[in-house]
Amino acid sequence: MTKKEYIIPIFIPFLGCPHDCAFCNQIKITNYKDKMDPSKVIGEIEKNLEYFPDNDNIKEIAFFGGSFTGLDPDVMIGYLEIAKEYKEKGIIDRIRLSTRPDYINNSILDILKDYKVDIIELGIQSLTQKVLDANERGHSVEASYEASKMIKKYGFTLGHQIMPGLFNDTFDKTIETVIKSIKFGPDIVRIYPTLVIKDTKLEMLYNAGIYKPLTINEAVKVSAEAAMLYKFADINIIRIGLQPTENINEGADVVAGPFHPAFRQLVEAEIYKKYLEEIINKNHIENEFTIYTNNRNISLIAGNNKANKKYFYDRYKINLKFQNSYEDFILYNDKKLEFNIDKFIENYVRKNYGGDLLLDSKA
Ligand code: SF4
Repeated sequence: MTKKEYIIPIFIPFLGCPHDCAFCNQIKITNYKDKMDPSKVIGEIEKNLEYFPDNDNIKEIAFFGGSFTGLDPDVMIGYLEIAKEYKEKGIIDRIRLSTRPDYINNSILDILKDYKVDIIELGIQSLTQKVLDANERGHSVEASYEASKMIKKYGFTLGHQIMPGLFNDTFDKTIETVIKSIKFGPDIVRIYPTLVIKDTKLEMLYNAGIYKPLTINEAVKVSAEAAMLYKFADINIIRIGLQPTENINEGADVVAGPFHPAFRQLVEAEIYKKYLEEIINKNHIENEFTIYTNNRNISLIAGNNKANKKYFYDRYKINLKFQNSYEDFILYNDKKLEFNIDKFIENYVRKNYGGDLLLDSKA
């Protein structure tokens, strides 16, 4: 099992962002004028460190919340100086930041290397130009490709963040984005289904009936498909669904859209549902069968509020039963059947997307 990692999130202000992406509420955010204040940043880091246990697990400072490399260079370097000092003293192990693809160039990457940044996450959102334009991102697909290539060349860990369900996005366009993203070769990825946030253009479009956000069900389906593709390509999915932050709270700032506090679990349950459906059909299963797996998986497979259990009963009149076990398998009519989700994902992607083709052309 991988060791827990400890993240110190520093939310940077969106000072001076010249962009006006349809889904971003920077109008509201720029209202609080928050210059870089070293004592505040150090205070935030120290506060977090106090809560961390004294062990050798990875500890990280992560700059979230805006386009880090779009900040005024002095402000950016001010943040980096603080983080670098903590890293050099061995108090933290890693520095992470997120930014826009068009705010990456050689001079910026030189600075980030000097300040010992480890991970750069790009908000690529979509890799279809029409969706980028419709959401007023103000950069091209090409910019995402170039930025990804440069980040990898410099030896940083590359992250991609994608947003299924943007204005004018479709299931197919999201999948096109995922496939292109895989070819750009990120190490890690975050899948953030689009939410309608207060004081955004998307909210106006939503109120005017022009934009329809994904339902939870649609968001789960497209995220499950995306997750299977990334998993096949061995890309670590570090988050699915938006983390409730100081700006994003259900009921407060989320006007509409597929917000769910346990979104990732819904997506994982959806993948299991696909797999179980295949097992049932292939083996002509009737009445009931028992899944032997470890306790941790059982609630995932059963689904949120036992949604998968209900689904298989309602649709096939089959009872899913569970047994805690170290070995994963299915017992049906005294016969042992294979139960291997990784193998299922591999076969699924090969069958539906020509898997090898996907990996061969990896940039
Ligand atoms: S999403 Fe990023 S680039 Fe777009 S307006 Fe918001 S802060 Fe600016």
